[in-house]
Amino acid sequence: MIYRTPGYCRDFRCIAGNCKDSCCKGWEIDIDDAAARRYAEVKGEFGERLRNSIRDGSFVLTEDERCPFLNEKGLCDIYTELGKESLCHICAEHPRYFEWFGTVKEGGTGLCCEASAQLILSRPFVLCEEEIPFEEAAGDYDDELFSLLLEARTAMLDAVCNDDMPFSEALCSVLDIAANAQKYIDIPMTGNTAAAGCREAMAAIFRCFSELEPIDENWIPYVRGCAEKLHGAPALKAGYIPYLRRIAAYFLFRYVMKSVYDGNVLGYAELAAVSVLFIAQLYRCRGECSFEDCAGIAKDYSKETEYCEENTEKLLELFGTEDFFSVNTLKALIAESFGENVDGI
Ligand code: SF4
Repeated sequence: MIYRTPGYCRDFRCIAGNCKDSCCKGWEIDIDDAAARRYAEVKGEFGERLRNSIRDGSFVLTEDERCPFLNEKGLCDIYTELGKESLCHICAEHPRYFEWFGTVKEGGTGLCCEASAQLILSRPFVLCEEEIPFEEAAGDYDDELFSLLLEARTAMLDAVCNDDMPFSEALCSVLDIAANAQKYIDIPMTGNTAAAGCREAMAAIFRCFSELEPIDENWIPYVRGCAEKLHGAPALKAGYIPYLRRIAAYFLFRYVMKSVYDGNVLGYAELAAVSVLFIAQLYRCRGECSFEDCAGIAKDYSKETEYCEENTEKLLELFGTEDFFSVNTLKALIAESFGENVDGI
């Protein structure tokens, strides 16, 4: 089968002890059955420690929500004691993601990880393919719809990756392509209309994000603080546009083909557009952002939205009902945020 992935993923390396926001903190870590069986057989003191640290199929986190095997140096005791092959599935794979479609497997590394976010923002988005042994993991889907969506996603990626096409035009064309594909799927189009004005719509989007379920307790106060600064914040710097193009490509590649299973191509295209619109406002509120700042903000956004299933589902639902998420409103916000108001164009 074919394995398709953005080229930068081949260079992904976990930075372990140097990571400022380790994925071994703040997340519940589920242990798969195969790892649980391996851990049950580990002998000696370390085996005892392993078994005493597992409850209801997960590692028991410390009071400050660290994995009990994350040591002072930011390294994993299971990895150092038993080797990489002893990690449970989620720890071995994170931040990689995969999706299967018949004889095609797609995958990449997620934006929620510091090292991966820096790769995503710094490298041009180029897809690579290789032959791999067949894996039977795909669900049932319509071949004709698959071809149509693949063509639509290619057109969307071509638009956002084309530096000669203004970013505002590229993002609006992503929404148009998705709306056309959605008509083919024949799920009723969203019933929302345009919101009153860009300023009100962006304020409503910030309110909406500040009401999602937080992963990190500092996130909501940060979003609320940015909402207050938004009106007086400087224009977006043109130097951030290449990063935003790559973030848009990440979301489109990762999510649009999922619609072969659930039919929500417009929702996934809106997720990409809303994500870059929101991240761009966070850049504006920060003022001068270094590359590391831009990657860090995108990483935090990803962790709080796409890495919380409940939040992603909530957003997809609101895209179809709230006027401030209508296609026309998003296009107006895109024109305002990435059109002539960008500083340095
Ligand atoms: S978030 Fe990424 S870089 Fe940090 S510890 Fe996890 S995998 Fe490694």
